[in-house]
Amino acid sequence: MERIAGKTIEEWKNEYPLLKKMVSTEEVFWENPKYRTFEEAINNISLNEKDVKEAEERLNRFSTYIARVFPETQKMDGIIESPTIEIPSMHAYLEKMYNQKIEGKILLKCDSHLAISGSIKARGGIYEVLKHAEDLAIENQMLLFEDDYSILDSERFKNFFSQYSIVVGSTGNLGLSIGIMSAKLGFNVTVHMSSDAKQWKKDLLRRKGVKVVEHESDYGIAVEEGRNQAEQDPNSHFIDDENSTTLFLGYAVAASRLKKQLDQMKITVDENHPLFVYLPCGVGGGPGGVAFGLKLIFKNNVHCFFAEPTHSPCMLLGLMTELHDKISVQEIGIDNRTDADGLAVGRPSGFVGKTLENLISGVYTVGDDRLYKLLSSMADLEEIFLEPSALAGIVGPALLFKEKAGQNYMMDHHLKQKMVNSIHISWATGGSMVPKEVMETYYKRGLQIQLRK
Ligand SMILES: *Cc1c(COP(=O)(O)O)cnc(C)c1O
Repeated sequence: MERIAGKTIEEWKNEYPLLKKMVSTEEVFWENPKYRTFEEAINNISLNEKDVKEAEERLNRFSTYIARVFPETQKMDGIIESPTIEIPSMHAYLEKMYNQKIEGKILLKCDSHLAISGSIKARGGIYEVLKHAEDLAIENQMLLFEDDYSILDSERFKNFFSQYSIVVGSTGNLGLSIGIMSAKLGFNVTVHMSSDAKQWKKDLLRRKGVKVVEHESDYGIAVEEGRNQAEQDPNSHFIDDENSTTLFLGYAVAASRLKKQLDQMKITVDENHPLFVYLPCGVGGGPGGVAFGLKLIFKNNVHCFFAEPTHSPCMLLGLMTELHDKISVQEIGIDNRTDADGLAVGRPSGFVGKTLENLISGVYTVGDDRLYKLLSSMADLEEIFLEPSALAGIVGPALLFKEKAGQNYMMDHHLKQKMVNSIHISWATGGSMVPKEVMETYYKRGLQIQLRK
Protein backbone atom coordinates (compact mmCIF):
# COMPACT_ATOMS: atom_id res chain seq x y z
CA MET A 1 0.00 0.00 0.00
CA GLU A 2 1.43 3.30 -1.02
CA ARG A 3 1.85 5.75 1.82
CA ILE A 4 2.46 9.48 2.05
CA ALA A 5 4.10 10.58 5.30
CA GLY A 6 3.06 7.28 6.86
CA LYS A 7 -0.61 7.40 5.88
CA THR A 8 -2.48 5.82 3.00
CA ILE A 9 -4.33 8.04 0.57
CA GLU A 10 -7.61 6.76 2.04
CA GLU A 11 -6.49 7.83 5.49
CA TRP A 12 -5.58 11.28 4.20
CA LYS A 13 -8.97 11.56 2.54
CA ASN A 14 -10.75 10.62 5.74
CA GLU A 15 -8.79 13.18 7.68
CA TYR A 16 -9.39 15.94 5.10
CA PRO A 17 -12.70 15.27 3.32
CA LEU A 18 -12.07 18.20 0.93
CA LEU A 19 -9.37 16.02 -0.65
CA LYS A 20 -12.05 13.83 -2.21
CA LYS A 21 -13.42 16.79 -4.14
CA MET A 22 -9.92 17.89 -5.08
CA VAL A 23 -9.09 14.44 -6.43
CA SER A 24 -12.22 14.52 -8.59
CA THR A 25 -11.04 18.00 -9.74
CA GLU A 26 -14.15 19.79 -8.47
CA GLU A 27 -13.85 23.49 -7.71
CA VAL A 28 -13.32 23.98 -3.96
CA PHE A 29 -12.92 26.84 -1.49
CA TRP A 30 -10.83 26.32 1.63
CA GLU A 31 -10.61 28.52 4.69
CA ASN A 32 -7.21 28.20 6.36
CA PRO A 33 -7.70 26.97 9.93
CA LYS A 34 -4.14 28.01 10.76
CA TYR A 35 -4.74 31.68 9.85
CA ARG A 36 -3.52 33.91 12.71
CA THR A 37 -3.30 37.60 13.44
CA PHE A 38 -0.41 39.37 11.78
CA GLU A 39 1.22 40.04 15.14
CA GLU A 40 1.21 36.35 16.06
CA ALA A 41 2.26 35.13 12.64
CA ILE A 42 5.12 37.51 12.01
CA ASN A 43 7.05 36.23 15.05
CA ASN A 44 7.77 32.99 13.23
CA ILE A 45 8.99 34.61 10.02
CA SER A 46 12.64 35.48 9.52
CA LEU A 47 12.12 38.02 6.70
CA ASN A 48 10.99 41.52 7.57
CA GLU A 49 10.19 45.05 6.42
CA LYS A 50 13.84 45.97 6.18
CA ASP A 51 14.44 43.18 3.65
CA VAL A 52 11.60 44.40 1.46
CA LYS A 53 12.77 48.00 1.75
CA GLU A 54 16.24 46.93 0.64
CA ALA A 55 14.78 45.26 -2.43
CA GLU A 56 12.80 48.39 -3.24
CA GLU A 57 15.92 50.54 -2.94
CA ARG A 58 17.86 48.16 -5.16
CA LEU A 59 15.19 48.46 -7.86
CA ASN A 60 15.39 52.24 -7.51
CA ARG A 61 19.17 52.11 -8.02
CA PHE A 62 18.65 50.17 -11.25
CA SER A 63 15.96 52.51 -12.58
CA THR A 64 18.28 54.63 -14.72
CA TYR A 65 19.68 51.48 -16.33
CA ILE A 66 16.22 49.98 -16.91
CA ALA A 67 14.92 53.21 -18.44
CA ARG A 68 17.88 53.23 -20.78
CA VAL A 69 17.78 49.63 -22.04
CA PHE A 70 13.99 49.22 -22.02
CA PRO A 71 12.69 52.50 -23.48
CA GLU A 72 9.08 51.46 -22.81
CA THR A 73 9.83 52.04 -19.11
CA GLN A 74 10.96 55.63 -19.58
CA LYS A 75 7.58 57.16 -18.81
CA MET A 76 7.74 55.42 -15.43
CA ASP A 77 11.37 56.49 -14.90
CA GLY A 78 12.61 52.92 -15.17
CA ILE A 79 10.29 51.56 -12.48
CA ILE A 80 8.48 48.42 -13.65
CA GLU A 81 4.96 48.82 -12.26
CA SER A 82 1.46 48.03 -13.47
CA PRO A 83 -1.81 49.96 -13.29
CA THR A 84 -4.60 49.20 -10.85
CA ILE A 85 -8.04 49.78 -12.36
CA GLU A 86 -11.72 49.34 -11.61
CA ILE A 87 -13.62 46.66 -13.53
CA PRO A 88 -17.32 47.48 -13.00
CA SER A 89 -18.58 45.48 -15.99
CA MET A 90 -16.78 42.38 -14.81
CA HIS A 91 -18.20 42.99 -11.32
CA ALA A 92 -21.72 42.86 -12.76
CA TYR A 93 -20.84 39.82 -14.88
CA LEU A 94 -19.57 37.90 -11.84
CA GLU A 95 -22.74 38.69 -9.91
CA LYS A 96 -24.69 37.18 -12.79
CA MET A 97 -22.40 34.17 -13.24
CA TYR A 98 -22.74 33.21 -9.59
CA ASN A 99 -26.17 34.69 -8.96
CA GLN A 100 -24.63 36.44 -5.99
CA LYS A 101 -24.40 40.06 -4.88
CA ILE A 102 -20.78 41.11 -4.40
CA GLU A 103 -20.46 43.99 -1.94
CA GLY A 104 -17.65 46.53 -2.24
CA LYS A 105 -15.46 47.53 -5.13
CA ILE A 106 -13.54 45.19 -7.46
CA LEU A 107 -10.17 46.28 -8.84
CA LEU A 108 -7.81 44.57 -11.24
CA LYS A 109 -4.05 44.66 -10.70
CA CYS A 110 -2.73 44.56 -14.25
CA ASP A 111 0.58 42.70 -13.90
CA SER A 112 -0.42 41.31 -17.27
CA HIS A 113 0.82 44.66 -18.55
CA LEU A 114 4.10 44.94 -16.66
CA ALA A 115 6.89 46.15 -18.93
CA ILE A 116 9.62 43.84 -20.28
CA SER A 117 7.96 40.46 -19.82
CA GLY A 118 4.20 40.98 -19.38
CA SER A 119 3.66 38.95 -16.24
CA ILE A 120 4.06 39.00 -12.47
CA LYS A 121 7.48 37.38 -13.08
CA ALA A 122 8.74 40.79 -14.17
CA ARG A 123 8.81 41.52 -10.43
CA GLY A 124 10.71 38.67 -8.78
CA GLY A 125 12.51 37.28 -11.80
CA ILE A 126 13.99 40.53 -12.99
CA TYR A 127 14.80 41.57 -9.44
CA GLU A 128 16.88 38.46 -8.77
CA VAL A 129 18.89 38.92 -11.98
CA LEU A 130 19.57 42.56 -11.10
CA LYS A 131 20.63 41.68 -7.58
CA HIS A 132 23.01 39.04 -8.87
CA ALA A 133 24.50 41.50 -11.36
CA GLU A 134 24.93 44.10 -8.65
CA ASP A 135 26.56 41.63 -6.25
CA LEU A 136 29.08 40.56 -8.92
CA ALA A 137 29.88 44.10 -10.04
CA ILE A 138 30.35 45.33 -6.48
CA GLU A 139 32.48 42.35 -5.41
CA ASN A 140 34.73 43.06 -8.37
CA GLN A 141 35.01 46.78 -7.58
CA MET A 142 33.31 47.83 -10.78
CA LEU A 143 30.32 49.53 -9.22
CA LEU A 144 29.29 51.55 -6.17
CA PHE A 145 25.77 51.96 -4.78
CA GLU A 146 26.09 55.70 -5.46
CA ASP A 147 26.85 55.26 -9.17
CA ASP A 148 24.39 55.99 -11.93
CA TYR A 149 23.62 52.40 -12.93
CA SER A 150 23.09 53.31 -16.56
CA ILE A 151 26.86 52.69 -16.87
CA LEU A 152 25.94 48.99 -16.90
CA ASP A 153 24.80 49.49 -20.47
CA SER A 154 28.31 49.22 -21.90
CA GLU A 155 30.64 46.73 -23.57
CA ARG A 156 32.82 46.70 -20.47
CA PHE A 157 30.02 45.42 -18.26
CA LYS A 158 28.60 43.09 -20.90
CA ASN A 159 32.01 41.48 -21.29
CA PHE A 160 32.28 41.16 -17.55
CA PHE A 161 28.85 39.52 -17.14
CA SER A 162 29.51 37.21 -20.10
CA GLN A 163 31.91 35.25 -17.87
CA TYR A 164 28.96 34.26 -15.72
CA SER A 165 25.89 32.21 -16.38
CA ILE A 166 22.37 32.18 -15.05
CA VAL A 167 20.18 29.08 -15.11
CA VAL A 168 16.48 28.65 -14.38
CA GLY A 169 13.73 26.03 -14.73
CA SER A 170 10.32 27.33 -15.71
CA THR A 171 6.84 26.67 -17.08
CA GLY A 172 7.41 29.73 -19.27
CA ASN A 173 6.95 33.16 -17.74
CA LEU A 174 9.80 33.01 -15.24
CA GLY A 175 12.02 31.89 -18.10
CA LEU A 176 10.89 34.91 -20.12
CA SER A 177 11.71 37.38 -17.36
CA ILE A 178 15.03 35.84 -16.38
CA GLY A 179 16.01 35.20 -19.99
CA ILE A 180 15.26 38.69 -21.30
CA MET A 181 16.87 40.50 -18.37
CA SER A 182 19.96 38.28 -18.19
CA ALA A 183 20.61 38.45 -21.93
CA LYS A 184 20.28 42.24 -21.84
CA LEU A 185 22.98 42.51 -19.16
CA GLY A 186 25.26 40.17 -21.09
CA PHE A 187 25.00 36.99 -19.01
CA ASN A 188 25.05 33.52 -20.53
CA VAL A 189 21.57 32.35 -19.76
CA THR A 190 19.92 28.94 -20.00
CA VAL A 191 16.22 28.34 -19.45
CA HIS A 192 15.00 24.80 -18.83
CA MET A 193 11.40 24.67 -20.03
CA SER A 194 8.81 22.15 -18.91
CA SER A 195 6.51 20.44 -21.40
CA ASP A 196 3.68 22.92 -20.65
CA ALA A 197 5.78 25.85 -21.85
CA LYS A 198 4.31 27.46 -24.94
CA GLN A 199 6.19 27.38 -28.22
CA TRP A 200 6.08 31.17 -28.66
CA LYS A 201 7.87 31.66 -25.35
CA LYS A 202 10.70 29.38 -26.45
CA ASP A 203 10.92 31.10 -29.85
CA LEU A 204 10.97 34.57 -28.32
CA LEU A 205 13.76 33.66 -25.91
CA ARG A 206 15.89 32.07 -28.62
CA ARG A 207 15.54 35.24 -30.70
CA LYS A 208 16.97 37.17 -27.76
CA GLY A 209 20.01 34.93 -27.50
CA VAL A 210 18.82 32.76 -24.62
CA LYS A 211 19.66 29.05 -24.58
CA VAL A 212 16.42 27.10 -24.22
CA VAL A 213 16.50 23.44 -23.14
CA GLU A 214 13.21 21.65 -23.69
CA HIS A 215 12.01 18.88 -21.40
CA GLU A 216 9.32 16.27 -21.97
CA SER A 217 8.51 16.38 -18.29
CA ASP A 218 6.71 18.80 -15.99
CA TYR A 219 7.93 21.85 -14.09
CA GLY A 220 9.50 19.94 -11.16
CA ILE A 221 11.85 18.03 -13.47
CA ALA A 222 12.78 21.15 -15.48
CA VAL A 223 13.82 22.81 -12.23
CA GLU A 224 15.89 19.78 -11.18
CA GLU A 225 17.70 19.75 -14.53
CA GLY A 226 18.47 23.44 -14.17
CA ARG A 227 19.76 22.94 -10.65
CA ASN A 228 22.03 20.08 -11.78
CA GLN A 229 23.45 22.10 -14.64
CA ALA A 230 24.24 25.07 -12.42
CA GLU A 231 25.93 22.94 -9.75
CA GLN A 232 28.59 21.87 -12.22
CA ASP A 233 29.85 25.41 -12.82
CA PRO A 234 31.06 27.73 -10.04
CA ASN A 235 30.39 30.78 -12.23
CA SER A 236 26.79 29.73 -12.61
CA HIS A 237 23.87 31.09 -10.61
CA PHE A 238 20.74 28.97 -10.35
CA ILE A 239 17.52 30.89 -9.82
CA ASP A 240 15.54 28.69 -7.50
CA ASP A 241 11.84 29.34 -8.02
CA GLU A 242 11.01 26.99 -5.13
CA ASN A 243 13.28 28.39 -2.43
CA SER A 244 14.65 31.79 -3.37
CA THR A 245 14.12 34.53 -0.80
CA THR A 246 15.49 37.00 -3.36
CA LEU A 247 12.68 36.26 -5.81
CA PHE A 248 10.21 36.42 -2.95
CA LEU A 249 11.40 39.87 -1.86
CA GLY A 250 11.28 41.14 -5.43
CA TYR A 251 7.60 40.22 -5.52
CA ALA A 252 6.99 41.77 -2.10
CA VAL A 253 7.92 45.26 -3.36
CA ALA A 254 4.57 45.28 -5.19
CA ALA A 255 2.83 46.09 -1.91
CA SER A 256 4.24 49.56 -1.21
CA ARG A 257 3.66 50.50 -4.83
CA LEU A 258 0.04 49.33 -4.62
CA LYS A 259 -0.42 51.31 -1.42
CA LYS A 260 0.65 54.46 -3.27
CA GLN A 261 -1.77 53.73 -6.11
CA LEU A 262 -4.66 53.18 -3.69
CA ASP A 263 -3.79 56.47 -1.94
CA GLN A 264 -3.87 58.23 -5.29
CA MET A 265 -7.26 56.67 -6.04
CA LYS A 266 -8.42 57.87 -2.59
CA ILE A 267 -9.13 54.29 -1.56
CA THR A 268 -8.73 53.71 2.16
CA VAL A 269 -7.78 50.40 3.69
CA ASP A 270 -8.31 50.24 7.45
CA GLU A 271 -10.25 48.36 10.08
CA ASN A 272 -13.56 49.39 8.58
CA HIS A 273 -12.47 49.11 4.95
CA PRO A 274 -11.04 45.59 4.57
CA LEU A 275 -8.95 44.68 1.55
CA PHE A 276 -9.26 41.25 -0.10
CA VAL A 277 -6.64 40.13 -2.59
CA TYR A 278 -6.93 37.11 -4.90
CA LEU A 279 -3.65 35.78 -6.26
CA PRO A 280 -3.15 33.04 -8.88
CA CYS A 281 -0.67 30.53 -7.44
CA GLY A 282 1.78 28.16 -9.10
CA VAL A 283 4.76 27.18 -6.96
CA GLY A 284 3.88 30.05 -4.61
CA GLY A 285 6.72 32.57 -4.84
CA GLY A 286 4.83 35.26 -6.76
CA PRO A 287 1.60 35.27 -4.78
CA GLY A 288 3.53 34.51 -1.59
CA GLY A 289 5.88 37.44 -1.97
CA VAL A 290 3.06 39.84 -2.85
CA ALA A 291 0.95 38.60 0.07
CA PHE A 292 3.87 38.96 2.47
CA GLY A 293 4.48 42.54 1.34
CA LEU A 294 0.78 43.36 1.69
CA LYS A 295 0.64 41.87 5.18
CA LEU A 296 3.60 44.00 6.30
CA ILE A 297 1.75 47.13 5.19
CA PHE A 298 -1.94 46.44 5.84
CA LYS A 299 -1.53 43.80 8.59
CA ASN A 300 -4.92 42.42 9.72
CA ASN A 301 -6.84 44.63 7.31
CA VAL A 302 -5.75 42.64 4.27
CA HIS A 303 -6.99 39.13 3.51
CA CYS A 304 -5.05 37.14 0.93
CA PHE A 305 -6.59 34.23 -0.97
CA PHE A 306 -4.64 32.08 -3.41
CA ALA A 307 -6.23 30.68 -6.58
CA GLU A 308 -5.18 27.44 -8.28
CA PRO A 309 -6.39 25.30 -11.20
CA THR A 310 -8.52 22.29 -10.22
CA HIS A 311 -5.87 20.09 -11.85
CA SER A 312 -2.89 21.63 -9.98
CA PRO A 313 -3.99 22.54 -6.44
CA CYS A 314 -0.50 22.07 -5.01
CA MET A 315 -0.42 24.93 -2.49
CA LEU A 316 -3.82 24.00 -1.12
CA LEU A 317 -2.68 20.39 -0.76
CA GLY A 318 0.56 21.39 0.98
CA LEU A 319 -1.09 23.84 3.38
CA MET A 320 -4.06 21.65 4.24
CA THR A 321 -2.06 18.49 4.96
CA GLU A 322 0.76 20.61 6.46
CA LEU A 323 3.13 18.48 4.38
CA HIS A 324 4.06 21.46 2.15
CA ASP A 325 6.63 20.27 -0.41
CA LYS A 326 6.50 16.70 0.96
CA ILE A 327 3.37 15.97 -1.09
CA SER A 328 2.45 16.45 -4.74
CA VAL A 329 -0.89 16.50 -6.54
CA GLN A 330 0.25 13.55 -8.68
CA GLU A 331 0.73 11.40 -5.58
CA ILE A 332 -2.93 11.71 -4.68
CA GLY A 333 -4.09 11.07 -8.23
CA ILE A 334 -4.41 14.52 -9.80
CA ASP A 335 -2.77 14.87 -13.22
CA ASN A 336 -1.34 18.44 -13.05
CA ARG A 337 -2.61 19.07 -16.56
CA THR A 338 -4.04 22.53 -17.08
CA ASP A 339 -4.01 25.17 -19.79
CA ALA A 340 -3.15 27.68 -17.07
CA ASP A 341 0.52 27.02 -17.83
CA GLY A 342 1.81 29.55 -15.28
CA LEU A 343 0.06 27.57 -12.56
CA ALA A 344 0.86 24.03 -13.76
CA VAL A 345 2.86 23.04 -10.71
CA GLY A 346 2.38 19.74 -8.86
CA ARG A 347 4.48 20.37 -5.77
CA PRO A 348 4.42 23.69 -3.91
CA SER A 349 7.33 25.64 -2.53
CA GLY A 350 7.96 24.44 1.02
CA PHE A 351 9.59 27.75 1.86
CA VAL A 352 6.52 29.77 0.83
CA GLY A 353 4.02 27.39 2.44
CA LYS A 354 5.84 27.34 5.77
CA THR A 355 6.52 31.08 5.77
CA LEU A 356 2.92 32.02 5.06
CA GLU A 357 0.95 29.19 6.68
CA ASN A 358 -0.49 31.60 9.26
CA LEU A 359 -0.99 34.55 6.90
CA ILE A 360 -2.88 33.06 3.94
CA SER A 361 -6.62 33.40 4.50
CA GLY A 362 -7.62 30.61 2.18
CA VAL A 363 -7.22 28.91 -1.19
CA TYR A 364 -9.76 28.12 -3.91
CA THR A 365 -9.60 26.24 -7.19
CA VAL A 366 -10.97 27.06 -10.65
CA GLY A 367 -11.57 24.75 -13.62
CA ASP A 368 -9.95 25.46 -17.00
CA ASP A 369 -13.32 25.89 -18.74
CA ARG A 370 -14.21 28.67 -16.36
CA LEU A 371 -10.83 30.33 -16.92
CA TYR A 372 -11.47 30.38 -20.68
CA LYS A 373 -14.99 31.71 -20.22
CA LEU A 374 -13.69 34.52 -18.03
CA LEU A 375 -10.95 35.21 -20.55
CA SER A 376 -13.39 35.99 -23.34
CA SER A 377 -15.75 37.87 -21.03
CA MET A 378 -12.88 40.03 -19.76
CA ALA A 379 -11.96 40.78 -23.36
CA ASP A 380 -15.56 41.62 -24.33
CA LEU A 381 -16.51 43.59 -21.23
CA GLU A 382 -13.30 45.38 -20.25
CA GLU A 383 -11.17 45.01 -23.37
CA ILE A 384 -8.41 43.45 -21.31
CA PHE A 385 -6.68 40.39 -22.72
CA LEU A 386 -5.25 38.01 -20.15
CA GLU A 387 -3.67 34.58 -20.34
CA PRO A 388 -5.64 31.69 -18.79
CA SER A 389 -3.60 31.60 -15.54
CA ALA A 390 -4.32 35.26 -14.91
CA LEU A 391 -8.08 34.73 -14.76
CA ALA A 392 -7.89 32.52 -11.67
CA GLY A 393 -8.01 35.54 -9.36
CA ILE A 394 -11.13 37.01 -10.95
CA VAL A 395 -13.75 34.79 -9.35
CA GLY A 396 -12.42 35.29 -5.82
CA PRO A 397 -14.84 38.05 -4.78
CA ALA A 398 -17.86 36.04 -5.94
CA LEU A 399 -16.71 32.88 -4.16
CA LEU A 400 -16.04 34.70 -0.91
CA PHE A 401 -19.70 35.70 -0.71
CA LYS A 402 -21.15 32.57 -2.29
CA GLU A 403 -19.22 29.74 -0.67
CA LYS A 404 -19.95 28.49 2.85
CA ALA A 405 -16.25 28.62 3.71
CA GLY A 406 -16.07 32.21 2.48
CA GLN A 407 -19.06 33.20 4.59
CA ASN A 408 -17.50 31.47 7.58
CA TYR A 409 -14.31 33.42 7.01
CA MET A 410 -16.18 36.72 7.09
CA MET A 411 -18.05 35.61 10.21
CA ASP A 412 -14.93 34.38 12.01
CA HIS A 413 -13.21 37.72 11.45
CA HIS A 414 -16.24 39.96 12.14
CA LEU A 415 -16.25 41.29 8.61
CA LYS A 416 -19.91 40.94 7.62
CA GLN A 417 -20.94 44.50 8.49
CA LYS A 418 -17.82 45.94 6.90
CA MET A 419 -18.27 44.29 3.52
CA VAL A 420 -20.15 47.26 2.05
CA ASN A 421 -16.83 49.14 2.33
CA SER A 422 -14.68 46.26 1.12
CA ILE A 423 -12.10 46.47 -1.65
CA HIS A 424 -11.35 43.38 -3.72
CA ILE A 425 -8.25 43.16 -5.89
CA SER A 426 -7.90 40.36 -8.40
CA TRP A 427 -4.29 40.02 -9.43
CA ALA A 428 -4.13 39.63 -13.21
CA THR A 429 -0.76 37.93 -13.46
CA GLY A 430 -0.03 37.78 -17.19
CA GLY A 431 -1.09 38.18 -20.78
CA SER A 432 0.25 41.13 -22.71
CA MET A 433 3.12 39.17 -24.27
CA VAL A 434 0.86 36.46 -25.70
CA PRO A 435 1.01 36.65 -29.53
CA LYS A 436 -2.18 37.85 -31.17
CA GLU A 437 -2.94 34.57 -32.93
CA VAL A 438 -2.50 32.58 -29.71
CA MET A 439 -4.78 35.01 -27.83
CA GLU A 440 -7.30 34.62 -30.63
CA THR A 441 -7.48 30.85 -30.06
CA TYR A 442 -7.89 31.39 -26.29
CA TYR A 443 -10.67 33.88 -26.92
CA LYS A 444 -12.52 31.60 -29.32
CA ARG A 445 -12.20 28.70 -26.95
CA GLY A 446 -13.88 30.82 -24.27
CA LEU A 447 -16.72 31.78 -26.59
CA GLN A 448 -17.30 28.13 -27.51
CA ILE A 449 -17.50 27.16 -23.86
CA GLN A 450 -19.96 29.97 -23.20
CA LEU A 451 -22.21 28.72 -26.00
CA ARG A 452 -22.07 25.14 -24.75
CA LYS A 453 -23.50 25.99 -21.36
C1 LIG B 1 4.18 32.22 -12.43
C2 LIG B 1 2.83 32.71 -12.60
C3 LIG B 1 1.93 32.73 -11.53
C4 LIG B 1 2.21 32.19 -10.17
O1 LIG B 1 3.46 32.46 -9.61
P1 LIG B 1 4.20 31.35 -8.74
O2 LIG B 1 5.37 32.04 -8.20
O3 LIG B 1 4.57 30.22 -9.65
O4 LIG B 1 3.22 30.89 -7.71
C5 LIG B 1 0.67 33.23 -11.79
N1 LIG B 1 0.31 33.67 -13.01
C6 LIG B 1 1.15 33.68 -14.04
C7 LIG B 1 0.68 34.19 -15.37
C8 LIG B 1 2.44 33.20 -13.87
O5 LIG B 1 3.27 33.19 -14.90
